[in-house]
Amino acid sequence: MADAKLPEKAWEPSIEEEVLDLWKREPDSYRFDPQPGQPVYVIDTPPPYPSGSWHVGAVMAYSLIDMIARAQRMLGRAVLFPFGLDRNGINIERTVEKKTGKPLHKWDREAFIAECRKEIESIGSGLLELATRVGMSADFAHTYYTDSDEYRAYSQSIFLELWPKGLFYRGERPTFWCPVCETPLAEADIEYEERPSSLVTMRFQLTSGGEIHIATTRPELLAACRAVIVHPDDARFAELHGKRARVPLYCHEVPIVPHPTAKPEFGSGAAMICSYGDMVDLALFRELRLEPVKAIDESGRMTPAAGSLKGLKVEAARKKAIEELRAADLLEKVEPIQHMTPMCSRSLNPIEFISSDAWYMKQLEFRDDLRRLAHEMEFRPTRHRQLLLDWMDSLTIDWPISRRRYYHTEIPLWYCKKCGETLAPPPGKYYRPWKDPAPFEKCPKCGSNAFVGEDRVFDTWMDSSVSNLFLTRYGKDPAFFAATFPVSLRPQGREIVRTWLYYTTLKSWVVRRSKPFHRVFIHGLGLDARGRAMHRTLGNVIDPWPLIRKYGADAIRAFVAGETNPGDDFRISEQKIGGAAKFVTKLWNVARFISSFEEPDAGKLQPTDEWILAELNRLIESSRGAYEDLNLFLPANRGRDFLWNLFAPHYVEMVKARAYEGDTGARWTLHACLRDLLRLLAPIVPFSTDRIWRAVYGGGIHAERLPMPRDGIPASRADFTEGLVTFNADVWKRKRDQGLAEAGPRPEPERRAAWDRGAAGTETLRTRP
Ligand SMILES: [Zn+2]
Ligand SMILES: [Zn+2]
Repeated sequence: MADAKLPEKAWEPSIEEEVLDLWKREPDSYRFDPQPGQPVYVIDTPPPYPSGSWHVGAVMAYSLIDMIARAQRMLGRAVLFPFGLDRNGINIERTVEKKTGKPLHKWDREAFIAECRKEIESIGSGLLELATRVGMSADFAHTYYTDSDEYRAYSQSIFLELWPKGLFYRGERPTFWCPVCETPLAEADIEYEERPSSLVTMRFQLTSGGEIHIATTRPELLAACRAVIVHPDDARFAELHGKRARVPLYCHEVPIVPHPTAKPEFGSGAAMICSYGDMVDLALFRELRLEPVKAIDESGRMTPAAGSLKGLKVEAARKKAIEELRAADLLEKVEPIQHMTPMCSRSLNPIEFISSDAWYMKQLEFRDDLRRLAHEMEFRPTRHRQLLLDWMDSLTIDWPISRRRYYHTEIPLWYCKKCGETLAPPPGKYYRPWKDPAPFEKCPKCGSNAFVGEDRVFDTWMDSSVSNLFLTRYGKDPAFFAATFPVSLRPQGREIVRTWLYYTTLKSWVVRRSKPFHRVFIHGLGLDARGRAMHRTLGNVIDPWPLIRKYGADAIRAFVAGETNPGDDFRISEQKIGGAAKFVTKLWNVARFISSFEEPDAGKLQPTDEWILAELNRLIESSRGAYEDLNLFLPANRGRDFLWNLFAPHYVEMVKARAYEGDTGARWTLHACLRDLLRLLAPIVPFSTDRIWRAVYGGGIHAERLPMPRDGIPASRADFTEGLVTFNADVWKRKRDQGLAEAGPRPEPERRAAWDRGAAGTETLRTRP
C-alpha cells in the first residue's frame, strides 16, 4: 500500500489550467506528421467568424468536433485538424458602418478597407483563447485567415482556373437584392419570416365596363403591373378571359389572362402580375412575354416609373399608394395579414427583387451530379443528407457571386475600355482590379491598351467553398493533395448546409469532378433551458467563461457528448453540467484510490476479476465502434455507466479487501480497468484523463491508442452482471436496514441514470483503509 499518486485530494477546474500549461510546452503533440503507411484523417474544421467570444453552444459544437479529432488520433490515424478564422465579409463591414455611422458606399474604398482591417485586428484573440481553453487540439500554430492575401489569392486562383470552362456569366436580370447592403443576394442568403402586412383589395375598371377586385400586399408596384391572372377553372371569372382591365392610379390597360398559377382562394381570386414582385411574377413575365418595368432601384427607392411615388422608400410608397387609392375611390378594403416575407439574412430587412447587373456561377445544370455526390457522402446522422438534397431541389436561379461590397475577395477581372472584352489574368497572384494596374499589354480582341478593373467582389461563400481544396493544397502540392483529398470529414451545423456544404460540393464537382468529403457530421444546436435557440435579442445567450471557471471544460464536454444522440439539438442546463462535473470528480476519486496500489505485472484472476474484465471488453468494443462511427453519445454514456454503476460500486467494493491484502489479481484488474477507461474517455474529457495518466502511468494519454478487448476473458462472465448487481444491492440494503455503517454504496434507483443524477451516488471510496 503506497500513497496515492494524485496529490490533489479532489478534482478542481483550476487543475485544467495546469494541464494547459503543460500542453503549451509540448506544441508538437497535435502536429500533422504522418508516419510511413499510417492512414491520414483530414477534418475541414468550420472557420468561425472571430467575434470576441463564442456562446456556450458554439463552444460545445467545437468540443464535439475536437472529440472526433482526438478519437481518430487514438484510433491510429494521422489527423490534420486545421483551424481558420473567417474574417471576410459583411459582418465586419457592418460593424464599421455602425460604429462610424457612415454606410460603406459613402467611404473611400481604401480607407474603408483599412478601417475594417483595424477593427478585425482589435477583436483580438479572445476566440482562440477560448478554443484552447476548452481543449481543442487543432493546429493553432498554422491558423489561417480568409482575409489574408494568401487565402484571397487562392480563392481567386480557383475562379481563374474555372474561368476558361465557361462556368461564369454576367447578366442583367432580376435578382434578389438587399436595399440595405446594396448588393445582390443568392437564395442561400435569404430567410423567410412571418411578418404583419396589409392585404389591399383594389378595384380595377374593365375597359368593357364593370370592375374586378384584386388583392395584393404590394400596391406600390401598380406601376409595374402588366397583367391580371385568374384561374382557368374559376367560374366567377370565366367571362373575363381575354378582356382588359385598367390599372388604378396609372390607367394603363393590361390583359386578363387565365392561368393555373392563380389561387381562387386568395383574395378575390384574381391577381396582378408585376415585374418583379416575386419569383412567380418573374416566371409569368417570361412565360407571357411581358415587358418588365423597373419600379424600385438599387437603394430600395421608387423609380420615376412609379410616378407620384418616385423617390419614396418601399414602406412609405406602400402607405402613399393606399392613400391615393382611397382618394380615387378605387380602394375596396385593407385587411391585416401575416405574410411570409423574404429577408436578408445579414441585415434582417425585407429584400427586393430587382433587375441588376451581376456575375453568376452556373449551378442548376449540375443538379443531378450534385445529388449523386450527396449520396456518395456518408452523413452522420444519416437523415441529415435530406437537408442537402432538399436544398438542391429548391434552387431556381444560378448563383449570383458578385457583391457590391469592399472587405471581401475581389473578382479578378478587367474589361477592355474600347471593345468591352472581359480579360482574366493567370491564376496565382492576389489581384485587386479596383486599384492594381491591369496585368495585360493589350486587348487580344481589339489591340487597345486601356482597361478598367472590375470593382465588385465575391460572395464570401466563394471563399469558404474552397476550404477543403485549400487545406489539401490542391494546385500547390500534388503529392499532399493526392493523399488527403477527398477530405475525410466535414463537421458543421445544420444552418449552413445550404451554404457551406452545398457550395463546397458544387466547387469540388466543377474543379475535381469529385465529392468533397467522405463523411459529413452535422452536429445539433445548443438551445437554452426552454428549448429556444440562443439569440442576443432574446437575452438567453450563455457566456461559457463562468461555466468553465466553475465546472471546468471537461464537465462541459462530458455534458454535451452524453446529452443527446448525434445530430439532435441539446438543451443546455447548468445543473446538468454540474452533474457532469461530478462524474469527472468520481473518475478522479476512483483513480486516486487505485493509484495507491502498485500495479503488478500480472496476477491470478478470480471469477470476479474476469467478470469486470468481460464487462470492460464489452465497453471497449462498443466504444471503439462508436468512435469509428463518429458517435460520442455512446462512449460517453457507456463509459459513465461502467464507472458509476458497475466498476466503482460493485467491483471495487468487492475486491477492496483483496487489494489491501496485496492480491495481485485484484490489483492488476483494478489498474487494467483504470487504464482502459481513461483511454476510452480521453477524447471526451482530455484534461482529467491526461492529468491522471501522467501521474499514475507516465507520459501523455493523448499519444496513446484506444484499448483493444483482452483475449482470454470468457465473454460469458458478463452474464453474471444482473444477478451480481441485484445481490449486492440486496446485501447493502439489509446492512443499511440493520444500521451497519460500512454498508457499501446505495444503488442508483435505475441503471440508466441521467448526468445530473450523478450526485445521487454515495461516495464510499477512501484512499486509506
Ligand atoms: Zn442586407
Ligand atoms: Zn478590346
